[in-house]
Formats: sequence, structure tokens, C-alpha cells
Amino acid sequence: MTVDAPAGDLVPAPERTPDEVLVAGEWRRGGGAPVETVDPATGRTLTVLAGADATDVDEAARRAATAAADPRWRGLPAHRRARLLHRIADLIEADADRISALQTADTGKCRAETLALAHSAAGTFRYTAAALETAEDAVTPARGDYVTMSLHEPIGVIGAITPWNSPIASDAQKLAPALAAGNAVLLKPAEWTPLVALALGRIVHRALTEAALPTGLLSVLPGPGAVTGDAIVRHPAVGKIAFTGGTRTGRALAHAAADKLMPVSLELGGKSPTIVLEDADLEQALAGVLFGIFSSSGQSCVAGSRLFVARARYDAFVGALVARAKALRVGPGSDPATQVAPLVHHRHRDSVAAYVDLARTEGAHVLCGGAAPEGERYRDGAYYLPTVLDGLPNSARACQEEIFGPVLIVLPFDDEDDLVAQANDTVYGLACGLWTRDAARAWRLARRIDAGTVWINTYKQFSGSTPFGGMKDSGLGREKGRDGIRGYQRQKSLYWGTDGAPLPWAASR
Ligand code: ADP
Repeated sequence: MTVDAPAGDLVPAPERTPDEVLVAGEWRRGGGAPVETVDPATGRTLTVLAGADATDVDEAARRAATAAADPRWRGLPAHRRARLLHRIADLIEADADRISALQTADTGKCRAETLALAHSAAGTFRYTAAALETAEDAVTPARGDYVTMSLHEPIGVIGAITPWNSPIASDAQKLAPALAAGNAVLLKPAEWTPLVALALGRIVHRALTEAALPTGLLSVLPGPGAVTGDAIVRHPAVGKIAFTGGTRTGRALAHAAADKLMPVSLELGGKSPTIVLEDADLEQALAGVLFGIFSSSGQSCVAGSRLFVARARYDAFVGALVARAKALRVGPGSDPATQVAPLVHHRHRDSVAAYVDLARTEGAHVLCGGAAPEGERYRDGAYYLPTVLDGLPNSARACQEEIFGPVLIVLPFDDEDDLVAQANDTVYGLACGLWTRDAARAWRLARRIDAGTVWINTYKQFSGSTPFGGMKDSGLGREKGRDGIRGYQRQKSLYWGTDGAPLPWAASR
């Protein structure tokens, strides 16, 4: 049911009434609670759809298991599965503009970013297709009279649970390798942003239908995490969970997975340090730090939310940074001039504001921002100004907890040991950015910081061929790269006795 739609040209008609969910290849109304999605630029309701309930999940999981075992899929050679992935990429690219408009309406993000995310999702399918076609299994050296080999087989049914911050990219990051590996997938998007996953569902459903493959291979099941997500995690047919989201949820899923002895991959939160050394190029460092925290309005697991600046440069650098932060253009994601778009939801904006208030009580100086912007343009949207704080010790809650908004906390450091101690004094270990012209220091620091990804003189760059994931409370396992497909497979070792293989109890011939 569409309650109210934003500017007519923003959300294309077919997706304006996505009041159906995809249960093992069948579009239907879900049996669960209403899921409401709101345009955070205006506060208007885009859609209220009936989410999937535990009965929908049960049916989706059982039919997914059947589809995964179907000889049409199970026996499909790698190059034909790769062709399916390329077809999905083609369809995403052909629809990229509409998907981008839909995602901007659903998440608030800038159009330039959502368009890039749509193309990156297509790229994920293409990279995975290439990795699939060129993957090799090992024939292991024989240590007796037999041939041995290592086989990688599909797990069966994968539960992919994704967050609201970059829906199409995180959906593709799980869907592409899971399908490449020969599985069926139950995709559960976040409550606040179900529309893009449903659009992707339509694309994959079409590609499966065209290729005469079992359409039960994909379900898209929006609904509350504690109901729909929980039913997926606990379903006996589901053999692995691939999760991106908050650390608290990830830990709960790992406990549930332990009960089933089921593998789980977790891409969780961060409180990533960005570091400006004495010799850093000013312009490069400013651009990198600003982009690192304020792009996506800070709603990124890798947001560079703690900035460490060498004490000798502290005042000059922070002064320049604050001037640039104040000049960032805040506005709706649909305006091409916008650099900082609204947050995903008014409730999330309130949580970010509460963190800034907490920081104030902890003694923070608000150098800029610290409030919602004023004026008619911003009145109904979930806006928050780019905010820079300092004056806090790294032990403050605002420095330790993930705020997930446009809030940067600046801290000085004295020397490398002090820097490393502060940067690593966090439960998280997702990413790090450092700016310097000194290659030896860059190398040394990159090795000493606890982070799954270190960017040197750049930030928030991603490549499909480079593994991604966190250390410490930032996650378990890696996505992407040639080994990304392996995460969705089970390994089997095969011994094949040769004719004369002697066994101790064999009757002599
Ligand atoms: P964030 O902190 O980014 O909002 P969450 O961890 O709350 O992220 O949510 C990420 C995804 O996990 C969403 O799709 C959400 O619905 C789902 N989720 C939340 N709680 C559970 C749960 N108990 N079981 C399964 N999925 C859940």
C-alpha cells in the first residue's frame, strides 16, 4: 500500500507499490507485521508493506532447500552459473538509474552515491562470475596408492541479513558469491530500507526465469530482525548466515549459530581512526578526512570517526578542517549539489543527536555542527549538521561507541607509541586511514594498527578483488576477493584408491 509518494519522478511506478515479498520465487503479501519505509528527506511515508512472518520464512527455507538440490541448479556447470551472474549484472546496469532513485528515496543518500552503489553491485556480480569461472580445486599430492582431491560444494541454503546503510551493495556482496557457490538464498533487508532488496529480487527472479532455473533459489523477506531475521537464523534448513550490521546483533547471531554449529560471517561496527602525521599533504589529508567521516553522512561501518592529528599540526589542521566542514552543502539526496544528505530515519537522527549531547556532558568542545540545520528546507527531514568535536579523552563514551552519523572527534597525539596506544584502544578493528609522505612510517604504522583495512593517503576505496572484514569486535571472516565464493561452500576431501591399493585386511590376491 502506498501511503504517500515523494516527487513523482523519483520513485518509479512499479516499485511504488512493493506490497509483496518474494517467497521462494513467488510474489505475495507477507503474513507479518507492517514494514513502513519513510523518505528521510521529507518525513513522508513511501510504503507500508506486510513483512514476512515465521510461516513465510519456513516455506521459503524449505523450498529453497529443494531448489538448491534441484539437478537443474546443482548440476549447472560453472560457466552457465557465471552467465546467470552476468545477466543479473546487465539487468542492474540497465536499471541503475531507477534503482538509484529508489535507494535515494528509501535511505536519503545522495544520488551520485546510490548510482555508484548500483554500478558497484553490478560489478560485484561480474567479478564473482569471473572468479567462479577461473576457480580451481586442488588435486593434493598422494601419500599412498590413491588419488586425493579437495572438492568445494554448496552449503545449501544461505541466510543473508543486511543493514540499511548501503542496501544494494551489501545485498550483492552476499547474493553474488552465495549463488556462484551453488546455493539458494534467503535475503532479509533491514526494516527501514526494504525497497532496493525487493527491486534486486525482481531482477534475480527475472534472470532465473529466463534461464529456466528454479526460481525458489531466491527469497526476499523484509520484516523485523527479531521476528523474520530470527526465524531465518534458527531454521534447520539454513546452513550459513552472512550478516552485516551492528556488533550487538552480530554477537547474538553468533550465539544462535553456535547452537546449530553453523558457520557465520559477520561484518560489524567500527570506530575507525584516521591519522594525520606531521608531514601529510594538507589538501589530500583534509579531503580524505572529510570524505571519510561526512560522506554517507557518517552512516558507514568504515567511517573515520576518530581523527588523530600530530600535536605540532593540531591547531592549523583542525582550523582548516572545521572551516571546510562548515562549508559542506547539506540537502536532500536528490539535489545534485548535496554533499551531506539526511540520515536514514528520524529516529536515527535523534540517536546521533543524543550522542552529541552525551559528548557535551563528557566535556566535548563543539567546533562546528552539533545540531540539526535550520530553515524551511530542513524542517521535515532527518538532517544533522556535519559536527566536529574535540576536548575529549579517547576513553570517553563518544570516542568508544559507534555513533554512525556525521560526528568527528579530534584527538591530538605526541609520538608514534602514544598514537598506536590510543588508536588501538577500542573494541573495534575495522579500518584505518593515515596520511603521510613518509613511506617507512606509513608501513610501520599500518602494521601496528588493529584494522582489517588500512588506507594510506586515501580513504573509503573498495575493490572487489581485495578481501574486506574486521578484527576484534568488528567481525569474523572476510568478504570479496577470489576466496569470497569459498565462504559459501563446504570442503570435502576425496580419496580414490588405485587398483592395487593395499589395505591391511585385504585378502591377498
Ligand atoms: P544496525 O545496528 O546497523 O541498525 P542491526 O544489527 O540492528 O544493524 O540490523 C542489521 C540487520 O540485522 C537488519 O536487517 C535487522 O533487521 C537484522 N536483525 C536485527 N536483529 C536481529 C536478530 N535478532 N536476528 C536476526 N536478524 C536481526
